[in-house]
Amino acid sequence: MDIGNYSEAGVELALDLVNTQAMTRDRLPDLTATRAFLDEHGIAGPVGEADLPRLRRLRERLRAVFEAGGDADRAAAILTELLVEHRAVPRLVAAEGVLRLEAGTAHDDAVDAVGSVAAMALAVLLAEVGAARLGTCHSQTCQDAYVDLTKNRSKRFCGDGCARITGVRNFRSRRRAHEAAQHEDVLRSREID
Ligand SMILES: [Zn+2]
Repeated sequence: MDIGNYSEAGVELALDLVNTQAMTRDRLPDLTATRAFLDEHGIAGPVGEADLPRLRRLRERLRAVFEAGGDADRAAAILTELLVEHRAVPRLVAAEGVLRLEAGTAHDDAVDAVGSVAAMALAVLLAEVGAARLGTCHSQTCQDAYVDLTKNRSKRFCGDGCARITGVRNFRSRRRAHEAAQHEDVLRSREID
């Protein structure tokens, strides 16, 4: 599905950051992992121990945008706050003849850079496709965030893996319920005998 001019790299940064917090594991436990994450996403600027809680707080608030359940007012309010707090500087970028609104920071701060780039990318995406396109995985064992770009807004899982596992789990529990019901029937028919 082709939808407009949001920054793919910025949306990916937002998703990747939110998804570093898995249900049972934090993939950004220390400075080394955080530096590697920032490097991977081309975020420059010095980063120290004091930045870790700031980045985790940003991660929580970006997650809240995905968990807003299609509540556009709530999602928009969080993103607007993030853009202000991280002192985002908007800029219009021409890429292959298309104009795109992006953001950066005017100062040398890695967490502000992540906040600005990610919040602006999500803001542009939301304005174009609506808050209902953002969600988190419906699997019992996964909380990953996703952007639903399917035609009929049918996405419920972060990926095929979670959809398959949940399908198998539902099938098994239906089968168990069916077997239990059959067992009940057998017991009841014996009582009648
Ligand atoms: Zn998942």
